[in-house]
Amino acid sequence: MSRPDDTTDFGYEQVPWSQKARRVGAVFSSVAKNYDLMNDLMSLGVHRLWKRFAIDLAAVRPGERVLDLAGGTGDLASAFARACGDDGVTVLADINAEMLREGRARLLDRGVARVPLVQANAEDLPFESAFDCVTIAFGLRNVTDKAAALRSMRRALRQGGRLLVLEFSHPADPALKRLYDTYSFGVLPVLGRLVANDEAAYRYLAESIRKHPDQEALRRMMAEAGFERCQYYNLTGGIVAVHRGWRL
Ligand code: SAM
Repeated sequence: MSRPDDTTDFGYEQVPWSQKARRVGAVFSSVAKNYDLMNDLMSLGVHRLWKRFAIDLAAVRPGERVLDLAGGTGDLASAFARACGDDGVTVLADINAEMLREGRARLLDRGVARVPLVQANAEDLPFESAFDCVTIAFGLRNVTDKAAALRSMRRALRQGGRLLVLEFSHPADPALKRLYDTYSFGVLPVLGRLVANDEAAYRYLAESIRKHPDQEALRRMMAEAGFERCQYYNLTGGIVAVHRGWRL
């Protein structure tokens, strides 16, 4: 959706609505090659546990059709492809061609070959009642129009299907929040400079997390988009949360 007169956040910066997708695209094109290494360094490997939790909660069964949206390097898609088996299908979608290329290489390295790739914007998915399960991991906060994306994901689900959103969120404990802020704004950008030669991209990461709706706000947004039985699970004290809702 184009809203030429409005601005929106790109981290702590306000940018024209129409420019956010391009700016986010530049961030992920820049970090695509180092993306996995940086994820491991930044989270000390804990992102694998967060993803494992989301994969278990998705509980994909043989024969199901799954869409892993903003799937980037394919961590969730490879697990879903195994779980849905030969009778099901897992589609990996992302707006960014470089991330999809990395994803395809990573899937092949893991011996997963049957995952169709689709370049698509979460706000306007080319799917209608097509999937039993849609997931978006660490992707929603990068989307310009999150409400449109949630509606589009709901449309992509068949009746009875579920959406899982794994995303950075807001720790409730003040001491943990202070520690996390120090780490995010003190350590992360330095790691970004040293490892990926891109301090700005990792500053954007820290800022975009702060701008993302908190647990309750995202739950409300999901309900407003038409999802039912919406609930969330806090991980690592709320640094990350998994939201789940159903199209009923
Ligand atoms: N899901 C992967 C993971 O957890 O490792 C990748 C997450 S990465 C932090 C965020 C991804 O969201 C990037 O691959 C980016 O290209 C994608 N993305 C950003 N905006 C998007 C949009 N509007 N529609 C679809 N994907 C988008």
